[in-house]
Amino acid sequence: MGQITLENVAKSFGEVEVIPPLDLTIEDGEFVVFVGPSGCGKSTLLRLIAGLEDVTGGKIVIDGSDATQASPAKRGLAMVFQSYALYPHMSVRKNIAFPMKMAGIDEAEQKRRIDSAAKALNLTDYLDRRPGQLSGGQRQRVAIGRAIVREPSAFLFDEPLSNLDAALRVGMRLEISELHNRLKTTMIYVTHDQVEAMTMADKIVVLQAGRIEQVGSPLELYRSPRNVFVAGFIGSPR
Ligand code: ADP
Ligand code: MG
Repeated sequence: MGQITLENVAKSFGEVEVIPPLDLTIEDGEFVVFVGPSGCGKSTLLRLIAGLEDVTGGKIVIDGSDATQASPAKRGLAMVFQSYALYPHMSVRKNIAFPMKMAGIDEAEQKRRIDSAAKALNLTDYLDRRPGQLSGGQRQRVAIGRAIVREPSAFLFDEPLSNLDAALRVGMRLEISELHNRLKTTMIYVTHDQVEAMTMADKIVVLQAGRIEQVGSPLELYRSPRNVFVAGFIGSPR
């Protein structure tokens, strides 16, 4: 579970082609980072995978099934939004329960998953608080908890740490990496931050103007950047 293949996937908004046809395979359990400058199409690509946008060409295959036309709920993926997407009037417990309630999961199972996610994310003592009573890092963990309880075959993160301060960002990076080690679930992580890409990824996908410039491990990109753009972006000599 958690293998995602893009075949000739393309996206235009009206006349503007934001993603020219591209191919990409994400293996089960991989931590893949999409990195590139602002406006290069990272969020659009993630939203296509999530099903929040329709492709204008090509095919998306998830775990062997054609998911191109599938609704977001049917894809079995969970998008982690920035922490400010939490419901301020609901407790942490209710925030985490919300997607399960929507999915019609029974209360006992909801409780089991909330307890397990809270334990994994160190939130057990905070379940009855509201988001406003938590630190930025704790709020981000709640946002992740809301994804975990859906037991997705892959997590999709869109710059989840960009509104945290620098010190907290470093800590949360480590926590997300550790979560990946523990769950071994596919994660796709979008960032414009090269350091985040180099430290978190099994595989980095470097994007520029909707095109994939290079795909490789951090070491491969560092040692053998394919072009000046990748070299400059990854910050290695060439
Ligand atoms: P990134 O996440 O890398 O900053 P985006 O995927 O948000 O980039 O955007 C890529 C390009 O697509 C940008 O030029 C942006 O203006 C354009 N774009 C994104 N969403 C829409 C939309 N709904 N309608 C029109 N253009 C869009
Ligand atoms: Mg974006």
